[in-house]
Amino acid sequence: MISQKNGKPARIYDGEYPLTGILKCPQCGAGMVISRTTNRNKDGSKQKLTYYACGNWKNKGTTVCHSNMVRVEKANTFVYNQLDKLLSDEKFFKEVVGRVNREHRILKENAIKEREVQEKNLQKIKVRQQRNHELYEDSEISREEFLTRREELNRKLCELRGKQTETSMVILEEGKISRKRADLERKPCCQECSRSWNDFS
Ligand SMILES: [Zn+2]
Repeated sequence: MISQKNGKPARIYDGEYPLTGILKCPQCGAGMVISRTTNRNKDGSKQKLTYYACGNWKNKGTTVCHSNMVRVEKANTFVYNQLDKLLSDEKFFKEVVGRVNREHRILKENAIKEREVQEKNLQKIKVRQQRNHELYEDSEISREEFLTRREELNRKLCELRGKQTETSMVILEEGKISRKRADLERKPCCQECSRSWNDFS
């Protein structure tokens, strides 16, 4: 809110206008922003009204778009009601839970496959390092060649170690999530939770 009293711009309380930027202008598709007007009532008193309005209109004017204003309270209430309906819709709720679970499962499965590939690559690099040493010891390659190959192999090894760490972290994280899920199944916070988790496990 802009404080008019002392003329200083005050904080913007996002919580009051959660749809800022999320609502799209029905005409041009730009994100809607906050716009304020002061209405004068018949008795002379003033009434401040807050709207979501087209961001294009607000920034660039009427040559670009119209205001397409909608009262903040009206839009918020409408969206909250729709969200309430969706979240209390069991089918929708189950679908969301199911989708999240599937995504986690796929992520973990991919990471496990990736780990196998990385382990094979690690063995290959080790074999090549060994081979490089042998060739040098048997004087089949020059010292320069040996050093170049060693550097290249070390670089590959370093890169691979980095990837292995990333993969391990994904597996670890997904493991934590699975354990949390298992905990939830044992100690459901409510009937709805226990029912939904069990349906998808
Ligand atoms: Zn617009």
